[in-house]
Amino acid sequence: MSLEVLQSGAALDTGGYPAFFRFREIGERVVVTSIEGEWIVLTREEFRGFLRGEVDRDGALHQRLVERNLVRESFDARRAAEAYRRRKRFVHYGPNLHLMVVTLRCNETCVYCHASRANLDALHTDMTIETAERAVDLILRTTSPHVTIEFQGGEPLVNFPVVQHIVEYATQRNRGLGKQLEFTMVSNLSLMDETKLAWLLAHRVQLCTSIDGPKSLHDKQRKLPTLSSYDAAEPWIARINAAYREAGLDPTLYHVEALLTTTKETLERWREVVDTYVALGCRALFLRPVDPFGFAEKTRKIVEYPREDYLAYYRRAVDYIIELNHQGVEILERYAAIFLTKILTGDDPNFLDIRSPGGAGIGQLAYNYDGTIYSSDEGRMLGAMGDPTFAIGDVRTSRYRDIVSHPTVRAMAIASNLEGQPDCVDCPYVPYCGTQPEHNHKTLGTMMGRMRESSMCAVHKGIQDFLFEKLATADAATLEILHRWTTIRAREHFVQPVAEGG
Ligand code: SF4
Repeated sequence: MSLEVLQSGAALDTGGYPAFFRFREIGERVVVTSIEGEWIVLTREEFRGFLRGEVDRDGALHQRLVERNLVRESFDARRAAEAYRRRKRFVHYGPNLHLMVVTLRCNETCVYCHASRANLDALHTDMTIETAERAVDLILRTTSPHVTIEFQGGEPLVNFPVVQHIVEYATQRNRGLGKQLEFTMVSNLSLMDETKLAWLLAHRVQLCTSIDGPKSLHDKQRKLPTLSSYDAAEPWIARINAAYREAGLDPTLYHVEALLTTTKETLERWREVVDTYVALGCRALFLRPVDPFGFAEKTRKIVEYPREDYLAYYRRAVDYIIELNHQGVEILERYAAIFLTKILTGDDPNFLDIRSPGGAGIGQLAYNYDGTIYSSDEGRMLGAMGDPTFAIGDVRTSRYRDIVSHPTVRAMAIASNLEGQPDCVDCPYVPYCGTQPEHNHKTLGTMMGRMRESSMCAVHKGIQDFLFEKLATADAATLEILHRWTTIRAREHFVQPVAEGG
């Protein structure tokens, strides 16, 4: 019996040997996973034996398969249930990530961002104090014990007084609630000054920025009217990292996080991108493809690319990052770290866009400047483009229960449950993967999506193929590096104190 016959769905006599499994061929190897995420990579020959039950019960292969709970006669249902429960623990809590768009105004113009910004004179796109307070009141009703409020824009520093008010108001309101409260700000840093920075550091607001690679590329994609946007951000990254060090914080944990958007031009410049991040002192690089939200059709031709080109770029860049790690440079790739954490540790890092069911509405919410509540920032961007599908409430009138049980949120939870997705049900990567209903809606015209046409699926599948290839073939030192990328250490400094003042 060939693998091709198995794929055709013809009847197969397995001799009752395998427990439930899914599989996928990658080159000469076959990845086999169980429903709860146990896995093994077999040669084609081994896989044929596994399928037919023709495995020597005293041999090493049988032993390996038993250890992975993939053999029916020794299947441990309790262990499988426990592993599944551990992987899905995030479903017990309501939204933990709350994005607040404090203004749409921005001084930068980015090639891939139209719906997310307004010119600096568009004062009507600033969030008011009253809207901000109603949003915070709602946020703190979440059943999640962890709450992160992320300031987005536009450029949040344009409406800094409202950012300050939100931090102070939320911290004070949280005193009686005792949630683990954190604040993050995503800023282009060009409007930063010493006074603002001192305040942000004193209030433990974590700072993130966007760096699209080397200066020439960054400046081309992110334009300031008179200055180089790279030169405007770079000194502040160094300044903030120095401030963390001066405060005695471990630089491996505390440093400015930077976000990359991969455009067509980035693809050939993977080495320069990695080198730039290393030179800036970043410890993580997230090789995110450009997303389909927020830019006009004519821009698509400039920034978009086939996903196989993206995957070739991804492989080159990650191989280079691994090479640097061998030389003692500590930097990881974020996609790889997310998937490897799920594959190697059995835990889920709760990255909201790569989990099943997805995080929209039940793990995250976005609050627009005008008080409209969206399932996510992507849902908000679609709203700005004239598609209100993912608008699920208003901070002035909606109750927490109305939002998290909104019919759209229910539909999204069903649509992003991979166990119920055609194509995903046969894919071995279900235990580690995720889909985004907003992305499916925008690119395929349906929240459910069609995975074989989905660019997001292509990226997730290609990255997991690459990682399983590595896990099957890498030397011990490389495996150690990949394992190191799964280490999660809490950044407790950013958690707001709750004790003082009762
Ligand atoms: S989204 Fe694609 S890669 Fe992920 S589980 Fe579904 S079919 Fe597999």
